Amino acid sequence: MPSAATESIVTRLLEAFAAHFGAPAPAVVARAPGRVNLIGDHTDYNDGFVLPITLDRAVYLAVRPRPDREVRLLSLNFEETIRFEIGTSPTEAPRWAAYVQGVVTELHRHALLPSGFEGVLYGDVPLGSGLSSSAALEVATLVTLQHLFGFAMSGEEAARLCQYVEHTYAGVQCGIMDQFAARLGRRGHALFLDCRSLAYRHVPVHLKDWLFVIIDSRAPRELAASRYNERRAECEAGVAFFRRFDPEIRALRDVSPELLWAHPDQPTPTIWRRCRHVVEENRRVQEAVVDLEQDRLEAFGQRMNASHDSLRDLYEVSSPALDLIVDTARQVEGVLGARLTGAGFGGCTVVLVHRDALPELEQRVARAYEATFGRQPAFYPLDHNVEAGPIWPETAALPVSSTSEGDEAGASEE
Ligand code: ADP
Ligand code: MG
Repeated sequence: MPSAATESIVTRLLEAFAAHFGAPAPAVVARAPGRVNLIGDHTDYNDGFVLPITLDRAVYLAVRPRPDREVRLLSLNFEETIRFEIGTSPTEAPRWAAYVQGVVTELHRHALLPSGFEGVLYGDVPLGSGLSSSAALEVATLVTLQHLFGFAMSGEEAARLCQYVEHTYAGVQCGIMDQFAARLGRRGHALFLDCRSLAYRHVPVHLKDWLFVIIDSRAPRELAASRYNERRAECEAGVAFFRRFDPEIRALRDVSPELLWAHPDQPTPTIWRRCRHVVEENRRVQEAVVDLEQDRLEAFGQRMNASHDSLRDLYEVSSPALDLIVDTARQVEGVLGARLTGAGFGGCTVVLVHRDALPELEQRVARAYEATFGRQPAFYPLDHNVEAGPIWPETAALPVSSTSEGDEAGASEE
């Protein structure tokens, strides 16, 4: 059953479609969700582990085929239309066109597009907040076209294609997590992903009376890019150091806690602390997965806290705004854990809270944040997360090639 929010978005898409393109109705409406990483930050580029969960917010497309090779798409978020011939660039394209056109061009290169198409696009994933509206847009475009034209493509292939689009057409050198989560994340589950092998497991999330709430600091992220590059370089320096003791070490993923603690403060105290964060965070993600599988929410919350403290003290990517939200949240009775999520220096936090305590959490964080920073954070309580796929008309499962699609087919739950 689609939620009320989903239904109203579909209605809006169908109305806009009719107004803009006329009859007949779109052949397919499909979507792909944004994501939030529950634990495991700055581990991805160290070949480590992450645990994202999809949101109940997504990017939606309503489309029908065209008899020619043209693409026409109206964005309801931007109230503008793009138009281009398959295989060419849109003229005077807005930025959002790059994601769509990138996916279209790559599918065209694989000879998967029999014709053009036209339709309407809308998303309720906040743009540019670190909840990966860009991956949602790429994956939504791909999945919608997959349903429209019926071609087969595995989830892994689709995620990689979308990552390639983000690198090549949007110029953002992201890891694979966002596209993987948007395409392969499953309702009722988090996605445990090994960023080296890309092996993954759907971890059932039984939250009962608890829920995750994303709190967006809405703080500018000026330092983010330069500090991100600095951290990557520090990790590389750590790998170079630890390789001297074991040539098999290719990434911090391969450094054991024993080796780490055998060389405290080396090669420098700062680099050692960065390495310690990554080594321990990888372990925390694996332990947190077991917590979820065994319904130990309290333990899971404590690992969220430990993760934040490590990102703040060892990896030094938190900020006064993120710390204030996390500290205030932790003082609320009914909060099991709170941490920054994503690269840090602004962006979002994620909190695990009892349903009854949600109003108090929102009130206290809003008040404290406003008093210190003079603006309001944004709250996104995560109810029933969703997965990529068609929502209108209700159709069969996504066509995939015969190769692996997850590990527990049919285990999806409501
Ligand atoms: P994030 O992925 O963290 O939300 P990005 O800067 O990577 O931030 O991606 C945001 C960009 O993705 C937007 O500026 C826009 O170009 C595009 N985008 C995301 N959602 C939509 C949408 N619903 N409609 C059009 N463009 C979108
Ligand atoms: Mg993005």
